[in-house]
Amino acid sequence: MQPEKRDLYRLPWSMNDNAIGWLEVTDICNIHCQGCYRQILGEGHKPLEQLKEEVRLLKEWRNCDGISLAGGEPILHPNIVELIRYISSLGMKSMILSNGYALTEDLLWKLKKAGLTGVSFHIDSTQIRPEFKKRELTSELEVNELRVKLGERMRKVGLYAHFGITVTKDNFKEIPDFLKWSIENMHLINGITLIIFRGMPVTEGIEYYAKGKKVEVNMDSLGYTISDEELASDKIIAQDVYAMIKEHFPDYEATTYLGGTINQDTYKWLIGNIIVNSKGKSFGAYGSRTVEWIQTFYHLVKGRYMVYARKRIGKKIFLMALLDKAVRKAFFKFLRYGLANPARFFYPINAFGIGIVQAPDMLPDGRVEMCDDCPDMCVFEGKLVNSCRLDEHRKFGELLTAKIDKKASQKLADKKRIPIVMHDN
Ligand code: SF4
Repeated sequence: MQPEKRDLYRLPWSMNDNAIGWLEVTDICNIHCQGCYRQILGEGHKPLEQLKEEVRLLKEWRNCDGISLAGGEPILHPNIVELIRYISSLGMKSMILSNGYALTEDLLWKLKKAGLTGVSFHIDSTQIRPEFKKRELTSELEVNELRVKLGERMRKVGLYAHFGITVTKDNFKEIPDFLKWSIENMHLINGITLIIFRGMPVTEGIEYYAKGKKVEVNMDSLGYTISDEELASDKIIAQDVYAMIKEHFPDYEATTYLGGTINQDTYKWLIGNIIVNSKGKSFGAYGSRTVEWIQTFYHLVKGRYMVYARKRIGKKIFLMALLDKAVRKAFFKFLRYGLANPARFFYPINAFGIGIVQAPDMLPDGRVEMCDDCPDMCVFEGKLVNSCRLDEHRKFGELLTAKIDKKASQKLADKKRIPIVMHDN
């Protein structure tokens, strides 16, 4: 069960016409996540004037529709409300990527008033955070209580909430349960992102170089490294996550993708959806045509591509039945379901978004495969760089190159694919 690129819409985003700009607000954080992209190097919160300048550059160079504010933990920045107000004043949306730990209701109201579009929460069982202190977490579902608490806070204020988890071999089999729970709570959650854990391998036989010199790369010098043991374990790719979801939610479908920069068969971003009502009944998914129409129409009218819908589309998705046969199919299913009991027509509906991101992969020849036309580029020393590898620029002055011997290369090539675990939905 594999998605076919020819059935999907390749996001038309590029280096200079990209819906998203990535703003690094601070390198300070209040928790710890496995594989974190950012190390605390003592830079702390960036001055507001510098952040405003970076927002202007992102708008100018990227033609952004929305700015993703990241770090570190962006809400710790003392000028976060003013920064959001500034982004809004330039006519762009804003999405804060937060662990939620310090996000109070009072701050949320201020952020909303300043024009914030929403918050994308990263909360998962791999994190070390004060709320989890008393126990070892063994399941992704144990974190749901905290997710609900934050989702309710967001709903009260009337802001968009998105939840993301890092997918590892340990929680891979829990994806269907996480999705089932998210759909059951769709009154609180607009969508989810599943980020497949990756890192620079630290193993015998791989040497790293920057500016022509060999550099020491280890767990302490770079947050996103993977150990020998992790290197030897099963490899998860975006198609595995797709297949796992499809097994348990046959109505789910992928619509949109970004490929890799090296291999033609890689999916780096694979975005899909499932049209579902508040009782958990699914009707299908909108197809690639819907996204194509939305992106094209938005670009024609606004002059830029779209990201971060401010409101849920709800039953209005069925208007796309005129242009998208996947929506037509879903609409007829909805009609049959409603005609059996007309009260069912009034249950809320959402097109629930499911994003899969396969972060950069080191290939057996030492090259690193990135996302084609990376949407998450940030400004660093007057240039655009991939935010997931920003720390290489910060620490070593440029992207690392790897020299790799035959044995290490074989280790990278030898990866077993993780088996799909079937269990009852
Ligand atoms: S290349 Fe890195 S920063 Fe860019 S979209 Fe992919 S994972 Fe994100």
